[in-house]
Amino acid sequence: TVSVVLFTSDLRVQDHPPMRAALEGGGEVVPLFVRDPAVERAGFAAPNRLAFLADCLRDLDQTLRGLGGRLVVRSGEVVEEVSRVVRQADADEVHMAAGYTAFARAREAGLRRALEAEGCRLYVHEGVGGVVPPGDITPQGSGHFAVFTPYYKRWRAEPPRTPLSAPQKLRVPTGLRSEEVPGAAELSGVSPGLAPGGEREGRKQLRYWLSHHVESYEERHDDLAGDATSRLSAHLHFGTLSAREVVFRASRGGGPGAAAFIRQVCWRDFHQQVLAARPEAARQDYRSRDDHWRRGPEAEADLAAWREGRTGYPVVDAAMRQLAHEGWMHNRGRLIAASFLTKTLYVDWREGARHFLSLLVDGDVANNQLNWQWVAGTGTDSRPNRVLNPVLQGRRYDPHGAYVRRWVPELAGLGGAAIHEPWRLTGAERAAYDYPDPLIALPEGLARFRDARRLL
Ligand code: FAD
Repeated sequence: TVSVVLFTSDLRVQDHPPMRAALEGGGEVVPLFVRDPAVERAGFAAPNRLAFLADCLRDLDQTLRGLGGRLVVRSGEVVEEVSRVVRQADADEVHMAAGYTAFARAREAGLRRALEAEGCRLYVHEGVGGVVPPGDITPQGSGHFAVFTPYYKRWRAEPPRTPLSAPQKLRVPTGLRSEEVPGAAELSGVSPGLAPGGEREGRKQLRYWLSHHVESYEERHDDLAGDATSRLSAHLHFGTLSAREVVFRASRGGGPGAAAFIRQVCWRDFHQQVLAARPEAARQDYRSRDDHWRRGPEAEADLAAWREGRTGYPVVDAAMRQLAHEGWMHNRGRLIAASFLTKTLYVDWREGARHFLSLLVDGDVANNQLNWQWVAGTGTDSRPNRVLNPVLQGRRYDPHGAYVRRWVPELAGLGGAAIHEPWRLTGAERAAYDYPDPLIALPEGLARFRDARRLL
């Protein structure tokens, strides 16, 4: 047999069920990646993710070459390109990972139709992108869990799945054309502090994380300046690490840090099973709140200030500037910045989600859109009207102001927690800092929110 393995968000050889299944045929295998312009048209090809992807593809190609094979890269509409490669290689089967976005579902349906016409079988493998596939655990009377805690309890009780080892050897048919992948240097708009991609890099980071830091995750994960989270999100998004393997290896260590970390990884599966059941939640409110978000020139100006990190609230601005510089933001920063946009400025969550997706290297339809909805109170949060106060959040999660000082250097001269309220300075002292006044006073923002949500 000749099998095509279509890589999508699973750019690795370790713990890779489609590759394992293709090799079981004992014949030749075509590892294929298709760069589909439809992804760019849909706005999902942000420079940061393209740069990370380029690293991943080069790394995968090198690894496959080490096994005696190589990666075949093509550009074009995915169904047409896969069909073309199937004809050129005279392939009998195509293996790929299941996906749950509207795009992934349309791709799968299109491939099924086209490959049938070619007399080629399509195998779609579950459990490649997450730990527990959507639909495997469901509450009584519903196709998906809408509340995290009961989902997590069931998820945790699932038997651990041992990760698959990487293939030892690969035979790829000769004569198949492959394209060069543009390097990060050829892309414009990439964040200067973007982390490198690729399976080897991901594995190195995972080893380091599990041996040095996971133990303190429970106490330190919210410490903005401590940067004590795994930073594995982009590797999980591109599948350079298998979530199943990450959980398997973390759980072997035991301890409260590992348990808290595994619980956090469960959020990925939680959002994925929500999106699988409700793909339209990528664009529409999961729970409609009949919100009348602010629109018009004033709201536009507030949105622009938020994007640029000049809201006048230091912790919000620090988070937004970290995003621009690194293509990544601390989870606590994401919560604060998203709450500020949707609940203090009262701007539509879709605007914020779009901006995050234009920069986040881990930008992911399920995690981004559904976390935004969670914060905006249109999603699965059981306390949809809670509002995070950026001053209190700053004092609590950046008590010495080190995070703000790192990202908002114009305030670096302010000591301790005073950095979170620069507007309290007066006269010449205030004038010494080239930093904007708050866009809105917090009590005013809260009153507007309560009024809009009819909570008064
Ligand atoms: P760690 O704290 O080390 O957590 C380990 C892993 O668990 C992460 O790598 C991630 O895969 C997963 N995880 C952690 N928190 C969450 C969560 N709340 N939801 C889903 N998975 C989670 N995460 C993304 O991967 N892509 C996104 O596009 C994204 N957008 C977000 C938007 C908003 C408004 C918010 C509040 C959160 C968003 N998150 C997103 C979730 C979370 O902020 C990031 O996964 C996390 O900050 C990544 O850093 P880390 O790898 O160091 O996380």
